[in-house]
Amino acid sequence: MTTAMFLVLVVEDDGELCGVLRTLLESHSYRVVDATTGERGLIEARSHRPDLIICDLGLPDMDGATLIRNIRGFSTVPILVLSARTMEGEKIQALDAGADDYVTKPFSAPELLARVRASLRRTARSGESQPLLYLGPVTVDLTARTTQGQEGAVHLTPLEYRVLECLARRAGMIVTQKQLIREAWGPERFGDTRGLRSYIKTLRQKLEPDPSRPRYLVTEAGIGYRLSPDERTGAA
Ligand code: CA
Repeated sequence: MTTAMFLVLVVEDDGELCGVLRTLLESHSYRVVDATTGERGLIEARSHRPDLIICDLGLPDMDGATLIRNIRGFSTVPILVLSARTMEGEKIQALDAGADDYVTKPFSAPELLARVRASLRRTARSGESQPLLYLGPVTVDLTARTTQGQEGAVHLTPLEYRVLECLARRAGMIVTQKQLIREAWGPERFGDTRGLRSYIKTLRQKLEPDPSRPRYLVTEAGIGYRLSPDERTGAA
């Protein structure tokens, strides 16, 4: 699939930034629709069915979490949030409301484009073929549910695998602590971030070349974790 097929909806009230995003995305062959209010964003999201939504958290008419919950009411489209450094709380709320990832302003063009690609890959991955993920010498096969290292299979307990799988299905994107706990354990363990931390630690010991300096299973301070596999394709 070429990027020319992808339509991106940008919801941003800052006209200048909106223009910058449009130019950047169009120069990389994405098609762009924009909206300057949350209300308008919802209308465009319904009528254009974009492949990705980039959404500012500081909109004049609606807070980010409300907008995202509204979109999630009718669509599973990847949502990338733009947030200011001063909006940490809003950012976490937006992620918990169903946003897939965030970029903090001011961001660089390569950073934004990398997040856009990762978000679009998540959609591609939810299709039938699950690719392999490479973490250095370790290969995670989501279809066969196996993890292979240099010296053979890496043994993971079912819970460790569930945590890894949850991160792997959203590879390259942030997963909040809340999402991880909900998906790996279920809602009854809500708030058990200490339990989660100990699983992350064990996973790093099993998967990272140097567990004390994690390269693949990265902590996003105060928010959650991101699995960043090597960028090579798993296709045979
Ligand atoms: Ca704004």
